[in-house]
Amino acid sequence: MPRHRRASAWKRRSSERRLKKVWLTEPVNSLKGIGKEAAKSLENLGVRTVGDLVMMFPYRHEDNRLKDLAETPHEERVTIEGRVESEPSVFFSGKNRSRLQIRLLAGHHLVKAVFFNQHYLKHRLTPGMTVTVTGKWDRGRQTINVSSFKEGPKQTGEDFEPVYSLKGGMHQKTIRRYIRAALDAVSGELPDPMPAELLEQYKLPGIAEALEGMHFPRDAEHVKHARRRFVYEEFLGYQLKMQAIKKVRKEAGKGTELHYDLDRLKVFIDSLPFELTGAQKRVVNELCAELKEPVRMNRLLQGDVGSGKTAVAAIALYAAITAGAQGALMAPTEILAEQHAQTLADWLEPFGVRIALLSGSTKAKARRIILEKLAEGEIDLVIGTHALIQPDVNFKKLGLVITDEQHRFGVQQRRILKEKGGDPDVLFMTATPIPRTLAITAFGEMDVSILDEMPAGRQPIETYWTKREALPAVLKRMGRELQEGRQAYVICPLIEESDKLDVQNAVDMYEQIRQYFGGRFNVGLMHGRLHPDDKEAVMREFSEGGLHALVSTTVVEVGVNVPNATFMVISDAERFGLAQLHQLRGRVGRGAHKSYCVLLADPKTEIGKERMQSMTETTDGFRLAEKDLELRGPGDFFGKRQSGMPDFKVADPVHDYRALETARRDAERLIASEAFWNGPEYETLRTVIEQSGVLSDERID
Ligand code: ADP
Ligand code: MG
Repeated sequence: MPRHRRASAWKRRSSERRLKKVWLTEPVNSLKGIGKEAAKSLENLGVRTVGDLVMMFPYRHEDNRLKDLAETPHEERVTIEGRVESEPSVFFSGKNRSRLQIRLLAGHHLVKAVFFNQHYLKHRLTPGMTVTVTGKWDRGRQTINVSSFKEGPKQTGEDFEPVYSLKGGMHQKTIRRYIRAALDAVSGELPDPMPAELLEQYKLPGIAEALEGMHFPRDAEHVKHARRRFVYEEFLGYQLKMQAIKKVRKEAGKGTELHYDLDRLKVFIDSLPFELTGAQKRVVNELCAELKEPVRMNRLLQGDVGSGKTAVAAIALYAAITAGAQGALMAPTEILAEQHAQTLADWLEPFGVRIALLSGSTKAKARRIILEKLAEGEIDLVIGTHALIQPDVNFKKLGLVITDEQHRFGVQQRRILKEKGGDPDVLFMTATPIPRTLAITAFGEMDVSILDEMPAGRQPIETYWTKREALPAVLKRMGRELQEGRQAYVICPLIEESDKLDVQNAVDMYEQIRQYFGGRFNVGLMHGRLHPDDKEAVMREFSEGGLHALVSTTVVEVGVNVPNATFMVISDAERFGLAQLHQLRGRVGRGAHKSYCVLLADPKTEIGKERMQSMTETTDGFRLAEKDLELRGPGDFFGKRQSGMPDFKVADPVHDYRALETARRDAERLIASEAFWNGPEYETLRTVIEQSGVLSDERID
């Protein structure tokens, strides 16, 4: 069927013709024109049913609208309509290689159109005929390098051409034919999962109209509104699930009520070596309020590097302990666990809190004793790595679990830890400033607390970006810092495939730096291959000031706190993500002295350059995270495997963040309403939730 008739075709068909009813769940080969072979190649694309087929959306639409060449930039793809003004001339440059050229009059422009390896068109192109060509515009040569060609004037309804992500030799034309067949078969039979109320509120097209808009758009508006609808629909479905999980958790109310001792808590807070920031106070209040509730806490604490999450954790843990429960703090690395144990022991042991450190390197005998005491309730607070979630670790009464840098834990680990002690409250802390948009999606079912204020008196870290060959000059500057009694980090990148190379990198850098300073300063070396004891020894020496500079792979990335360190060099910085660079940089600027960070990088791409540039421009972790997300996409931000990010078909949490927020608000409202749980118009949406299994309390996030 010629496409210009398609525009209004589906409406006509649905009212005038009688069609065989084909349901969305039927296999694709129930459609006319799709046989066994076709069904097989569709299956390769993950398409089995008619429903899969109509919901297989193009990843973009080519803009085929006619453009004025005078306004078309060089190298841009453009579609024009023109009259053939010359006989085609053909040049052969090899067996199957040819170049066919004609003159075209497009509006007032006389231009050349060049076709590569299509000499057979010679007989179809005759002077005086009108053609429509699409191709790349070479402004200097006034030439279009044709990529697609049609006889005759441009048809209406072809302005936006969907482009599908295909493989296995399937053609765009073929898939469109299949989709057309599917849409024709189901039109008029499509139940709309979205209630009319919401469609009306946001002026969104109904399902059939929207599907046409995605696959066979009439014009720009048609695509736009179709996309708008599916973006909202996807977000709403997702948010409904998240809100349903929250509701179930809150109503189950199985968490322990921790009635902490406010007076003792106040004394403890007063004993800290600093006054809490306003944000810390607010978050402490949020946490304490929730500890008292019978609801199981499932909360994310976001706070930029250095915002003082440890103190908040200590206060919450102490609160749980004064309520007669035990607490656990889990860190992603041994070094960090040890440091936390040290800090918390300094703060809490004076209050009689019994603390133990349990890590992979705890000796068997010591470990056995700790396990016994945990089970007997003779240890109040245990701090450790994932050694905490081994099967033989049991608690007497685990009340609160805090995990630091939660995105580093797998879903599985989180689950096990929760299962340890009945139903402990759980707080996830992260210094990776998760962009709001992402926090809503990735952690939509969690409550979120934010530490958005830095302790007073911090000076911003000055950041520079320079070529790698400038290392000697950078070391010279570093020497001045060391001379003044400060300390420095030099970070070498993680090379993914090989930690051997990693180590080599760090060793080379270490040698180079030692040579440069020629014994004037003590330089240490730290990398993942060192024995845990040696790592600890090096780290301790650095934090006690015995080492002036520390060359390290990214093992110092999270949490490490050496306030006297004021200078950081990050080698091959382009290999890191922005979020990670920000984390690393956060190791300096933790004390009273001004701090510096130098990025050594020779990025090859524009995006790479932009990333380095943004590091020098801001120290705001949230802004960097947004930037990172924009430049790299959500999958990369968390790492695909653990991201927990849903796979949206159309929606993009960054680009469409407004719709995401709207959907979240609507989901909250719907989940709380009677109508949603009983009204027939919400049935399909309810089914989405029911089928996902989130309503059974079995599910653990
Ligand atoms: P992060 O949020 O990155 O884990 P930390 O908890 O390690 O940050 O805190 C960073 C530094 O700031 C530590 O040295 C800590 O003792 C200090 N600190 C925390 N809260 C305050 C505060 N309210 N005032 C001053 N210093 C603080
Ligand atoms: Mg920390």
